[in-house]
Amino acid sequence: MHDYDVCVIGGGPAGFAAAMRCWDFGKRVCLIEKGPLGGAGIHNGALSSKTFWELSRHFRSAKRLDRGYRAERVEADFAQVRAVVDQACEDKTRQIAHQLYELAQPRPGLPGSIAHIRGTARFLDAHAVHVEAVDAGHSRRISAAHFVIATGSRPRELPDIEIDGETIITSDHIGSLRAFPRSLVILGAGVIGCEFATIFANFGRTKVYLIDRAPRILPFEDDDVANLCAANLEAKGVTIHRQAKLVAMRKLDGEVEYTIEHATGGRETIRVEKALISVGRVPNTDRIDLDKAGVQLDARSHIVHQDTQTSVPHIYAIGDVTLDIALVNVGEIEGRHAAERLCGHTDRPLSYANLATIMFLDPEVAAIGLNEQQAQAERIPYRVGVYDYSLVNRAIAMRETEGFVKLLVRDDEAMTILGMRALGVHASTTLEAVSLMIQHQRSARELAELYHPHPAITEGLQDCVRMLLGSSIYKPCAFQSQLRLSRIHYADDGTAQARSG
Ligand SMILES: Cc1cc2nc3c(=O)[nH]c(=O)nc-3n(C[C@H](O)[C@H](O)[C@H](O)COP(=O)(O)OP(=O)(O)OC[C@H]3O[C@@H](n4cnc5c(N)ncnc54)[C@H](O)[C@@H]3O)c2cc1C
Repeated sequence: MHDYDVCVIGGGPAGFAAAMRCWDFGKRVCLIEKGPLGGAGIHNGALSSKTFWELSRHFRSAKRLDRGYRAERVEADFAQVRAVVDQACEDKTRQIAHQLYELAQPRPGLPGSIAHIRGTARFLDAHAVHVEAVDAGHSRRISAAHFVIATGSRPRELPDIEIDGETIITSDHIGSLRAFPRSLVILGAGVIGCEFATIFANFGRTKVYLIDRAPRILPFEDDDVANLCAANLEAKGVTIHRQAKLVAMRKLDGEVEYTIEHATGGRETIRVEKALISVGRVPNTDRIDLDKAGVQLDARSHIVHQDTQTSVPHIYAIGDVTLDIALVNVGEIEGRHAAERLCGHTDRPLSYANLATIMFLDPEVAAIGLNEQQAQAERIPYRVGVYDYSLVNRAIAMRETEGFVKLLVRDDEAMTILGMRALGVHASTTLEAVSLMIQHQRSARELAELYHPHPAITEGLQDCVRMLLGSSIYKPCAFQSQLRLSRIHYADDGTAQARSG
């Protein structure tokens, strides 16, 4: 008899979701977490950075002078902003701890139980872990019929750059800054790097430099999306070093000196107060003795899995330890799915085809399904409608008309929805309807039938769909720079050919 039915290692969003779903099925679960509950879903990650982003946006908005009022002395103090961020994280952590406490109590008629164990787990063999407890004297061996590995990831470090957590930092150290740096270089123009560039630029106290190896930021998005985000960063004073290779970075007199090489071969050396290294994340698979359990890793140390099941059938892996997209919602979906599988409640494989994401830039970018470059890579003939926010009443009322909705549909009779990108205020509100439509492979015609309240940002999406159907209220021939309608087909050599209308 094992100590538990299921042992979940890691109390981030993936592990917590898995533990809760196992509890639903009446399992005796233990959740082992070595740090604060919530993992990077809360701390030094999704919730902390989103709170920071929201505050920075409000701050920037409060400083605007084009709204008929002027706020006196709008100033940001880093310590106080950080205290608000900490409060948000504490609120959420307390909710998780509360639920774990409640579910630890026996409940009549409910067989499930959860034990929260504070400590670091390492495999002893395929059915047992040793837990080095946070509370001295409580370390012990725990056995379980099933394991779910949800140990997450940490920032990737580079061999030639010494991260000291004060002058040269990663996203894990943002909370330990004592003041807004006067200047900050961010190495890596991926989503996290661009989000922090937006946050620090919004507060207006930091000169931000962004080092990007590629010709443009967000290379996985279409030009129009990436260019608008880049233009906004630059308008806030961010310097983007495009096609720049970092040659050296070192600490010098308590500051940072870095040298980049431009595409032309020319070199430039710049001195800044702090550097943020944002070059991806590595999975936490190296300190849990997976070899003792026989769990296989890929070349980059992610856990190899088949629909959340590892090479050892009673051990599952979810969230950032796997190679799938590192997002809270993905971790949660995987956690729930693994729990359903190991409890014998599903044999349907998990689908990743319909993932919605938001990038917290300026403006926010909501994405689902295919963009144009992906559709073209797959040689799918499609129609695309782009509808500018300047025609959307809600955006006009908010005085936030920058942005657009872009919808892609198959160019055939069915006009099945392929994907959407929305940039602008409340962009994420447009995701829900499109997500459902893509999931059920529905046509643009059905999307056009949705009733929207007025004024709502989603009205832009609705008129964009109507435009694709030739029935929009605002016509592309009247608003040529705000509305775009194109059909993309392919020449015999595979090159994409656009036709308007
Ligand atoms: C700055 C930043 C911003 C982000 N923003 C977003 C966003 O806006 N939206 C979004 O969807 N995603 C965002 N993410 C990604 C998201 O945070 C992660 O994908 C998500 O947290 C992964 O969940 P997880 O449970 O797999 O791992 P984690 O959240 O990393 O949790 C793993 C947990 O396991 C614990 N652990 C590790 N090893 C052991 C061990 N041996 N024993 C016991 N416990 C252990 C860790 O302490 C940790 O608490 C962001 C990430 C960062 C860094």
